Amino acid sequence: MKSGWVERDAQALVAHGAKCGVDRELALRIYTTRLLGGDPKLVLHGGGNTSLKTCIRDRFGEEVEILRIKASGAEMAAIEAEGFPAVRLGPIRELRALDAVADADLIAIERANLIDPAAPNPSVEIMLHAFLPHKFIDHTHARAVLGVIDQPDGEQKCADAFRGRLAFVPYLMPGFGLAKKAIEIYERAKPSDGLILSKHGIVTFGEDAREAYERMIGMVSLAEDFIDRNSKSVAVATRQRDIAPVEAVAPIVRGACSEKDDVTEGAWRRLVLEFRGGDTVRNFIDGIDLDHLSRAGVATPDHTIRTKSWPLVLPHPEAGKLDDFANAARDAVGKFAAHYHEYFDRHNRRVGGIKRELDPLPRVVLVPGLGLFGLGPTKHDAAIAADIAEEWTAVVGGAERIGRFESISESEMFDCEYWPLEQAKLGLKQAPPLAGQIVAVTGGAGAIGAATAKAFAAAGAEVALLDVDLAAAGEKAKAISATALAMECDVTDAASVQAAFDDIAAHFGGVDIVVSNAGAAWQGRIGEVDEAVLRRSFELNFYGHQRVAQTAIKIMQAQKTGGCLLFNVSKQAVNPGPNFGPYGVPKAALLALMRQYALDYGAEGIRANAVNADRIRSGLLTEAMIKSRAEARGLSEKDYMSGNLLGREVTADDVAQAFLHQALALKTTADVTTVDGGNIAAAMR
Ligand SMILES: [Zn+2]
Repeated sequence: MKSGWVERDAQALVAHGAKCGVDRELALRIYTTRLLGGDPKLVLHGGGNTSLKTCIRDRFGEEVEILRIKASGAEMAAIEAEGFPAVRLGPIRELRALDAVADADLIAIERANLIDPAAPNPSVEIMLHAFLPHKFIDHTHARAVLGVIDQPDGEQKCADAFRGRLAFVPYLMPGFGLAKKAIEIYERAKPSDGLILSKHGIVTFGEDAREAYERMIGMVSLAEDFIDRNSKSVAVATRQRDIAPVEAVAPIVRGACSEKDDVTEGAWRRLVLEFRGGDTVRNFIDGIDLDHLSRAGVATPDHTIRTKSWPLVLPHPEAGKLDDFANAARDAVGKFAAHYHEYFDRHNRRVGGIKRELDPLPRVVLVPGLGLFGLGPTKHDAAIAADIAEEWTAVVGGAERIGRFESISESEMFDCEYWPLEQAKLGLKQAPPLAGQIVAVTGGAGAIGAATAKAFAAAGAEVALLDVDLAAAGEKAKAISATALAMECDVTDAASVQAAFDDIAAHFGGVDIVVSNAGAAWQGRIGEVDEAVLRRSFELNFYGHQRVAQTAIKIMQAQKTGGCLLFNVSKQAVNPGPNFGPYGVPKAALLALMRQYALDYGAEGIRANAVNADRIRSGLLTEAMIKSRAEARGLSEKDYMSGNLLGREVTADDVAQAFLHQALALKTTADVTTVDGGNIAAAMR
């Protein structure tokens, strides 16, 4: 591993800092923190931390010694000055004289000593940084270092690999106890470069930013060399044949890893998936003793909050035998959950029954022959779980090449998983109503489609916008969220629909709600209209919906957690307009189609509903059409658009809210919701 220090970049950051009141030391602290954070082989997702000791003048003009330490959970790769809250160093150092400090007291003491009372909470490892005397301290969970120290004889391997330049601190849970132990050992051993925290990570220090950083790089390089020099040859994995594709496996895994909500009948707790199936991951999963290693535990303690202590292992999913795989998967998740309850109860009793159990579902699923899935309440969380799972395979792979991977004990993992200071990193809050749900919207680039996707995303769902115009769908998706997905899909082409839903299942893990919205209008007097025109309209306005619903239903059935089909039927379905037959007749058939789905799939928990909307500014009713129709009726545009019982213009957002309501109404199926401002001739009977 090479140092990433570039003098020109460092000086540029110092110059930039000078313009916004950031001094040279802090600017360089930011620079090397970003260098560390930018390399996943060193830190991942809020893990790791750095600090700087310096003096400032406080609000009363008095000089105080402070510790600037990374904020808890902050991402090092993109850190700014605000990511380093300043804490008075003196009072934190005095804590060393105590025998113990309760978590709640620690937070209170930290916050009482912040220079800026509005600053974020400092890292949970603040005392470790405060007690050590050095000006700059860097702490990472570097992959190669963990490979060397996550071993039964980690202390010996540490002495060999780091040539006595790091002192060895036995495992203790992060926090006060570890900080006290670390300073005692430092003062006794006076190591030149830093400390190894057993089964956890590495600390390096220095009198300037570059020294601490380059010591980190130097030590990680020694660990890499040590693994290279001592590697045993590894057996090459034999690849299983006839493995089913990820788009077929993911909905089964996702469905198996869902939980019925025991309060609201018909509701499920669902998770989103992120798949990783690269060669490294597959070679690892297919090449190791999965039975043993899947129970071995985490690579470093703070991973427990993202991945739980163990992954779930499933059998290999043979193509053509997915029913067997589904049964085995449900069985395995049931056992995993039962084991998790038992684990929680046992350890909760040990700590006095004060903890509240988290959900018992796995966050990492290993599928031999295929790869691994990360799971989370959002796509973002699922991707973090997958990143950490991949990192776990890399650490364990390295450890097994030079010895035997060994993690902390089960009690130690429980203590980290249920440590309030770690849980705080997840920012636990009330889940939004559609958390964990995946929604596909056809015609996603249009006015109603885009507004609906936005409304569902705001309610916590992950959304896929399907449209014939990929570029336009991409624009809309980008405006909605970082994880909204745009896909090309022509609903008049069965292969295109299948491909789009395969991609959704592979990307998010499945689908729960479909808003079948794509459509276009044709006109003509019904007795004279060319049959080709009528067929073209049926192809899009009826068969398009049927294809989408039929394809989605298969995924919903694989998940076995119900689902919801929502159709955009026009007012034409119930109240035909003159010469609008080519549009209205297939829409009337679509209304019947919705009712048929409600009837045929209600027993499987799949609901079907429709929105009957009228006169919305969209691709079907353009500004030019509004102008000409208003003129033809001798009305202003405004009067034309609000020509309904309420006298209010109806918007795409109003239609989106109606779809959202139907998705949330778990006891409602075969419903048609009218969104037209009031038109008694189009009212449903
Ligand atoms: Zn750490």
